[in-house]
Amino acid sequence: MLRENIARVEDRIENAVRRAGRGRSDVTLVAVTKKFPARVIREAFDLGLRVFGENYVQEFESKHGEVKDLAGAEFHLIGHLQSNKSRVAGDLFSAIETVDSPKLAKRLDGGGKAIEVMIEVKLSEEETKAGAAPEELPALIDCIRGCANLRLTGLMTMPPWNDDPEVTRPYFRRLAELARAHSLPKLSMGMSHDFEAAIDEGATHIRVGTALFGRRPK
Ligand SMILES: *Cc1c(COP(=O)(O)O)cnc(C)c1O
Repeated sequence: MLRENIARVEDRIENAVRRAGRGRSDVTLVAVTKKFPARVIREAFDLGLRVFGENYVQEFESKHGEVKDLAGAEFHLIGHLQSNKSRVAGDLFSAIETVDSPKLAKRLDGGGKAIEVMIEVKLSEEETKAGAAPEELPALIDCIRGCANLRLTGLMTMPPWNDDPEVTRPYFRRLAELARAHSLPKLSMGMSHDFEAAIDEGATHIRVGTALFGRRPK
């Protein structure tokens, strides 16, 4: 089933990049494995997937031992990071997509390990959403660029849920504008149901869970 799902997602990506006049290599598929056991990561790796997204530091800490031998696999943190977990996160992940405050950036930098980071941007007023507000970006970008161990590559966002990708598209467009304004090359946006619109708006990283692995276990 996973093999078929990967093929279906690949078809969708191919079609989306073609429509957008982009190349397949412009878009990285981040396979979101939160709530699935380590063997699912191994299975996906055997089928050719290389970049994985996890939401929870503790959960990934418990799976890490079973996947750390996968040569060439890359793990991104895509869930909110509390600064008291930043040390562990810095050790476990090759990229943290959810930096959203100078405090967190400095904590990560203090870990001493070179790490790629993206800034999670909050583009709506939803109270529960993590992320830096667009007006906080200039100061946060300055702070991160001043951190010797952090390499800032892009922006990430998670728009309010809507099953119509056309409702979500303006958020993708806005994130792309912000990235352009700050000369940041990477854009992590788009999930199972709306990644075509995200690719159309310039996504370089799409984060796909359900379309690959099915419904997440409770
Ligand atoms: C769970 C999650 C995804 C994947 O969502 P699907 O709808 O299952 O593809 C993407 N991004 C983030 C931040 C997530 O938490």
